Amino acid sequence: ATPMSIMTATGRGAQAGVLIKNAEALERFEKIDTLIVDKTGTLTEGKPRLVAVLPEDGHDEADVLRLAASLERGSEHPLAEAIVSGADERGIELSKAEDFDAITGKGVKGIVDGREVALGNARLMADMGLESQCLADTANARRDDGETVMFVVVDGLIAGLVSVADPIKESTPAALEALHALGFRIIMATGDNERTAKSIGARLGIDEIRADVLPADKAEIIRDLQAKGHKVAMAGDGVNDAPALAQADVGIAMGTGADVAIESAGITLVRGNLDGIVRARRLARATMGNIR
Ligand code: ADP
Ligand code: MG
Repeated sequence: ATPMSIMTATGRGAQAGVLIKNAEALERFEKIDTLIVDKTGTLTEGKPRLVAVLPEDGHDEADVLRLAASLERGSEHPLAEAIVSGADERGIELSKAEDFDAITGKGVKGIVDGREVALGNARLMADMGLESQCLADTANARRDDGETVMFVVVDGLIAGLVSVADPIKESTPAALEALHALGFRIIMATGDNERTAKSIGARLGIDEIRADVLPADKAEIIRDLQAKGHKVAMAGDGVNDAPALAQADVGIAMGTGADVAIESAGITLVRGNLDGIVRARRLARATMGNIR
């Protein structure tokens, strides 16, 4: 492509809120066959809301939420914000947490009111050697509805679960349909649970789902695909996604996401909607196609 045609393409992209870092990103994008998308904040709005607090027998709902939210005040994860806001809305007063510890891809731990509290996913429960027979069916039913379930542990026993819902962005279904029509294979990679991921994936016609993925594994998934000869783009918004965005042939960051994600990406979607990728592909094809 000529410098002039690339300038025209990047200029048009910018007007539409698609920031293309350089000529290389545009050239590489034309050859992409596989698109990996993060779930939370990329396919979904990334603003989860607390939708249920279910105590285990013998535990109090407000108490479970208070302990969970007190702990989550120390975390910047979107799930943590949902739990803290949920407690606020219910007028629950929070306590100060001590010895706060975040466990990447799993949850959080700390001391609240002298009690040992932990909050996180099934993997965290497995690490702690805990299992809840009673809540397992409820948890699965909620995951099948696309919710993310977290268990609350108090003094070594599961005291209940909290569940949050993160709606799919309005623009996502049409964007994915257009991307499929352009010939991309679309893979979702998420740290979330498999049932939750499958529920969201099925609604969107995603080709393949990789769930329970730890942040470092996202880059590994891309490396494997590249080793098989695929040209891979990755769309994500989180701090967690930065290594994968850097590993991809083209990283695509949501402009609404973390700064490190944007720095690692070749393309930034200012509005944070995936339809920007459709536009980027058309610009790439038009620009590169012109020359050959
Ligand atoms: P993603 O952004 O792809 O959903 P993360 O690695 O950020 O992935 O999170 C993966 C999972 O780890 C979450 O779905 C949740 O179950 C658990 N988790 C992470 N952080 C927290 C937290 N602060 N509180 C509760 N659970 C958490
Ligand atoms: Mg995310």
